[in-house]
Amino acid sequence: MDGNQQVLPLAFAIVDEETYPSWKWFLQQLSRHVIRGRRGMCLISDRHGGLIKAVREGPDFVSPHGVHRYCLRHVCSNFNSNFKNVVLKDLCWQAGSEYQVRKFNRIMEEIKKQDVKAFAYLDQINKEKWTASHDGGWRCGILTTNMSECINGVLKGARRLPTDFACKMFISWQQKAVEHTVMKYSHAQQSVSVVTGRQNRHGMNTHVVKIANRECSCGKWNQFGIPCSHAQKVCDAYNISDASMVKDYYDLMAYNNTYSKHFEPVQLGDYWDDPNFQLVQDPTIRTVTRPGRNQTTRIHNEMDWRQTRARQEAQQQQGDSSIQENVS
Ligand SMILES: [Zn+2]
Repeated sequence: MDGNQQVLPLAFAIVDEETYPSWKWFLQQLSRHVIRGRRGMCLISDRHGGLIKAVREGPDFVSPHGVHRYCLRHVCSNFNSNFKNVVLKDLCWQAGSEYQVRKFNRIMEEIKKQDVKAFAYLDQINKEKWTASHDGGWRCGILTTNMSECINGVLKGARRLPTDFACKMFISWQQKAVEHTVMKYSHAQQSVSVVTGRQNRHGMNTHVVKIANRECSCGKWNQFGIPCSHAQKVCDAYNISDASMVKDYYDLMAYNNTYSKHFEPVQLGDYWDDPNFQLVQDPTIRTVTRPGRNQTTRIHNEMDWRQTRARQEAQQQQGDSSIQENVS
């Protein structure tokens, strides 16, 4: 948080799961790149076992260098999972957020009166760590990790974002879907038929969409893994999220994974392993470099002939028109 109580993100990491090793790694990186020997740091977090262990082993959030505090919302939530009592939960929140020890004690007495076990549960948690009254000024008035959950929300959204390609295709089909009409639902076939809108001379076709199989008779959904305009129309009619039907491989996470591996630079030949065979040069496949554009060695196909013919025709037309100009 900055001086204006606004979120100032300094570092975040994406890990495969929340465990002791991943927390340990994160705290090490934080220590190295963000904290860098500064003292007087306060960490506010939930009471994840792996995190508590990792914090204890590091130097930054352990007395006398710094402190570790618990998010009051998480303490209340854990407390409520144990005792399932909204009145007690409210009292727990009041106890934790009270700034005066005298008032804190009074609320704790009230909890004790209502449920001795609930009192004992809270009493065994280090008061410095969860109450504002025993904090000693470390928390700067921040009782929860609510503000960091907003980052969590941003990342959660980013996980399912599709690539630019998928977005464009999805949107172009979405625009087309407006012209279609959903006709009838066949229970036996678990399918819906859609009549396409008239576009110039085309349209007025019927396509059959099977949402459960993620397929449409137009073939595009099966081919691209993106709901076609007909499928989108059906999703819209039956209040189904069509965006969630896009194949996982269009996710940004999947896309980033494609490039997550490193290319190792090739070392000098002297460092290579002995291949156990001799490399012999084949003089017949040696190419001689000539000035100018290299001749293509690719086998030409039908498309190349078409292109060559088009070019010849264009040249011929140019020639004809220049003759005509000369004549006129
Ligand atoms: Zn379709």
